[in-house]
Amino acid sequence: MMDGPDTDLAFLPLGGTGEIGMNLNLYRCAGKWLAVDCGIGFGSAEFPEAEIMLPDPGFIAERRNALVGLVITHAHEDHVGAVPWLWRELRCPVFAAAVLSRKLSEAGLLSEVKVTIVPPGGSFRLGPFALQFLRVAHSIPEAQALAIRTGFGTILHTGDWKLDPNPLIGPPTDEAAFAALGAEGVLAMVCDSTNAMVEGHSGSEADVRRSLAALIRDLPGRVAVTCFASNVARVESIALAARAAGRTVAVAGRSLRNIEAAARECGYLNTIPPFLSEDAANEIPDERLVLLVSGSQGEPRSALSRIAADTHPRIALGEGDTVIFSSRVIPGNERAIGTVQDNLVRRGVRLMTDSDHMVHVSGHPARDELRKLYRLVKPRISVPVHGEWRHLAAHAGLAQELGIRPILLEDGEILGLVPGEPEVVDSAPVGRLVLDGSRLVPLQGGVMSARRRMLGNGAVIGSLAVDRSGRILGEPQVSAPGLLENDDPEVTALGDSFAAALTDLPPELRRDETAFAEAARAALRRVLGRRYGKRPLVDVHLLRV
Ligand SMILES: [Zn+2]
Ligand SMILES: [Zn+2]
Repeated sequence: MMDGPDTDLAFLPLGGTGEIGMNLNLYRCAGKWLAVDCGIGFGSAEFPEAEIMLPDPGFIAERRNALVGLVITHAHEDHVGAVPWLWRELRCPVFAAAVLSRKLSEAGLLSEVKVTIVPPGGSFRLGPFALQFLRVAHSIPEAQALAIRTGFGTILHTGDWKLDPNPLIGPPTDEAAFAALGAEGVLAMVCDSTNAMVEGHSGSEADVRRSLAALIRDLPGRVAVTCFASNVARVESIALAARAAGRTVAVAGRSLRNIEAAARECGYLNTIPPFLSEDAANEIPDERLVLLVSGSQGEPRSALSRIAADTHPRIALGEGDTVIFSSRVIPGNERAIGTVQDNLVRRGVRLMTDSDHMVHVSGHPARDELRKLYRLVKPRISVPVHGEWRHLAAHAGLAQELGIRPILLEDGEILGLVPGEPEVVDSAPVGRLVLDGSRLVPLQGGVMSARRRMLGNGAVIGSLAVDRSGRILGEPQVSAPGLLENDDPEVTALGDSFAAALTDLPPELRRDETAFAEAARAALRRVLGRRYGKRPLVDVHLLRV
């Protein structure tokens, strides 16, 4: 069943339902697979040790001979960021609409990956899948929805989108193309749920542009603005607002530097003079300067975090200056952003955020926009994706109100669309990988669970030398990093208790090295539980002499 009969059409999310980020969507038709997006997620409060997480591609990697290609809808990290890490497992051709997506990911992309650029709105075929991009407005240029036509029906995979009559960069969402698709007949719409709990409309970038210009014109002192680097329209709005206020823009932060270069190479920002470097910022009088600063999510090493903590080597802000957060709080980042904002306020800096000023609009559809797209596309069923469970459920409720049957999926559930009535027909193994330094390790694997245990309880390592008959030579040693100081007399006492516990082990067990080590570990665990009421990570090294 997992690889399907020849007459089968199915959808399988390996990441991106019930959680933020890590979008990895699979479609199966006539035994062939198509992947749409391959993104990373950022660590959450739940997994503080995992800064970057990726979907485990194991299921599709095992079937890569039947994988006809990977299509990238747009250049956001939660859609393209995992390609450099996972492509070696997939080894399939990659297709993207966005010139920007190639530019942005170039640094990370392996030289082996061949990315075919399909023009916005363009069509191409991969095995049994006839594919067509449909232009959508979003918070990054060149975003596309994907129409997937097959011999068994058509699916619309919306990607991230919004309806914005004036997105400022690129054309608005191609509503005529969606209406035409709807007239053809759409079996399933797999759709963005990010703002499915937000009534009304997401608002227009043009409103933000007007508002930023009005705000910055009237502000005294230095003005710093932080935003998502990839929102090229927003960067342009900030530059235009600065110019209208007689201010020059200087950039602080690598992500903004990179995006500026990529955007200019792709033909964006061409009416905007090059931004000054952070070194040059100090030559400009305060009231003639706008600082464009990275770090809207409170990232600890970002330029804004360092400015807020007054540890930035070149840029300082204080009394009379203003920082505008032209961004939203991504769930999980509340604490980090709060720390940055506290530090700024402590220095006397005035804050403006999207909760008190019109300085940000979302790139995702609110409920009115969802309703409108459903009315254009008229799919038989709705599959909410790209959101946490409450967002998916709200999205399902909205579809139902419109008379469209929603189907909620967990990652790994295989939704059979054809033949028969659409229903979950099977499941595939899913998992998350964590970027640990420069290696990928399974989040639920031994390494990360040991890490979690050490974080909460420390580690204890016992060492003992034994002779051939299993007799213990000398004194067993223990060390307890993260639990006891090295010079704590408790360490010696713990060693003695460990030695005493070992004398109880039956002699026949001592001749088998593995059994001896396991029994010694268990003994050490019991001692620790009794002495400290803690369950640290425990290991025992047995040295046979
Ligand atoms: Zn996006
Ligand atoms: Zn996204």
